[in-house]
Order: sequence, then structure tokens, then C-alpha cells
Amino acid sequence: MQSNTSDWDSALLGGSIDRGITHPNLIEERAKCTFDQSELEKHLLGDLTHDYFVKRDKLLEKYPALALTPGYNEMSREEKMEDWWRQVSLFHAVAHPELLNKDSILEHLAFSNMYSRGMGGNNPLDLHNTMFTTCMNLFTTEEQKKVWLQKTIDMSIIGCYAQTEIGHGSNVAALETTAILDLATDEWVIHTPTIKATKFWPGSLGVHATHAVVFARLKT
Ligand SMILES: Cc1cc2nc3c(=O)[nH]c(=O)nc-3n(C[C@H](O)[C@H](O)[C@H](O)COP(=O)(O)OP(=O)(O)OC[C@H]3O[C@@H](n4cnc5c(N)ncnc54)[C@H](O)[C@@H]3O)c2cc1C
Repeated sequence: MQSNTSDWDSALLGGSIDRGITHPNLIEERAKCTFDQSELEKHLLGDLTHDYFVKRDKLLEKYPALALTPGYNEMSREEKMEDWWRQVSLFHAVAHPELLNKDSILEHLAFSNMYSRGMGGNNPLDLHNTMFTTCMNLFTTEEQKKVWLQKTIDMSIIGCYAQTEIGHGSNVAALETTAILDLATDEWVIHTPTIKATKFWPGSLGVHATHAVVFARLKT
């Protein structure tokens, strides 16, 4: 947290991110910086991400409720998730339409990725905003995009990413889960033929996700 003043009181308060109190030593050291910090940020992040950071900061000034609630780090897991949904709902209701070209998937992706990583906390939408949205954009036909990408962006569905299996991580070619099209019902039947094929690690799947991108071996 950048700040030019400090409420530091070593006897009473100590430094605190939650209370927005910065240690005076940090303020002093930051003031010694001899180069343009914004140029370094651009160099490290790239122009697009840097622009979104600037937009995000303006957004936070206009809608302070977009930040995590003070005391977030002391909350229970359930309270943290509730706080995240409060923040994300507000973001989508007011800030998202105000800032972004709704027809630009690239803009949506860049901003959502930056947003989910930059706001702190345990973000239940990280997989939705990164892996799921990217798959919906890259692996779908134009016809599918109209339905699924749209629902992904307006968050009427929440996605996760189920690639890794308990027996197969980096070696994606060895995945064992199968997907077979049932011609009678026109539905995909997903099957785990061995214990090794059990999907493992899929973030958000347990509680938040309504949909998943499932990596499987296609069989006819
Ligand atoms: C916090 C967390 C969240 C995750 N979330 C998800 C998720 O949402 N969805 C999902 O599908 N997966 C998820 N994963 C799984 C993650 O993607 C896998 O852990 C990853 O694919 C690696 O697989 P593995 O752990 O089985 O390691 P392995 O594939 O068994 O690799 C073990 C070691 O061998 C090395 N190695 C592997 N192959 C080679 C090679 N060909 N040449 C040289 N070295 C090699 C690796 O670098 C690694 O050091 C998550 C993992 C973590 C830790």
C-alpha cells in the first residue's frame, strides 16, 4: 500500500495492511527511489496490464466498496467468500460496464485476470476468470461462443478447469477420463475408468462452479 504519511504508533498500533497504516521506514525508503516507478511498472507488466492497473486504481477511488472489507485477513473462510461475492457483484454491476468495451473479449480477459489477481484475498473466481474464460474463447466455434462465452462473461455460469488427474499432471496426453457421445440422448457421457483418472486439484469445483471445462479422451 503506497502512502505518504504514517499513523504509525509502535506502542499502540504497529503496521497494518488492514488498517492502512504504513511503517515510517517504508515511507522513507520509498521516497529515496531515483527512477520513475511508473516506467518500471510498465516495463515489468507490459502496457496493457499497466493501463488496467491505472484503471483499477481510479475505480477504487470512485467505488471504495470494491476493495476487500477491512479485517478481511481475520475473517473465516465463509466470511471471506461472502466478502468476495459482495465485491465481485458490485464490480460487475457498476464498474465492469463503465470501464470495458463489452464486445471485446481481449479487454474482458485482460481486465478480469488483472482484477482477480490484483485485489487480494482468496478469489473464488480466479479459475473462472483465467482458465475457464480462456478455454471458452479459444476452444469454441462462433456458434458456441454466442451461448457459452456470453454466459461466461456475464457470469450467469461460473466455470472451473478440470484437466489434472490424480495419476496424470503435466503429461496431458496420458489422461484417462473418457468422453463418449450418446447418440440416443445427444449427450456426452464423461467416465473415470480407473482411480488414476480421478480429476484432482480443480479449484472452485467444490463450491462455486456451476460448469467445468473437462479434459477427456474422445471416444466414438
Ligand atoms: C494450488 C494448485 C491448484 C491447481 N489447480 C488446478 C486446477 O484448477 N485444475 C487442474 O486441472 N489442475 C490444477 N492443478 C494441478 C496442476 O496443474 C498440476 O499440479 C500440474 O499439472 C503438475 O502435475 P503433477 O503435480 O501431477 O506433477 P507431475 O506432472 O507428476 O510432475 C512432477 C515433476 O516432474 C516434472 N516434469 C513433468 N513432466 C516433465 C517432462 N516431460 N520433462 C521434464 N520434467 C517434467 C514437473 O516439472 C514436476 O517438477 C493445481 C495444482 C496446484 C498445486
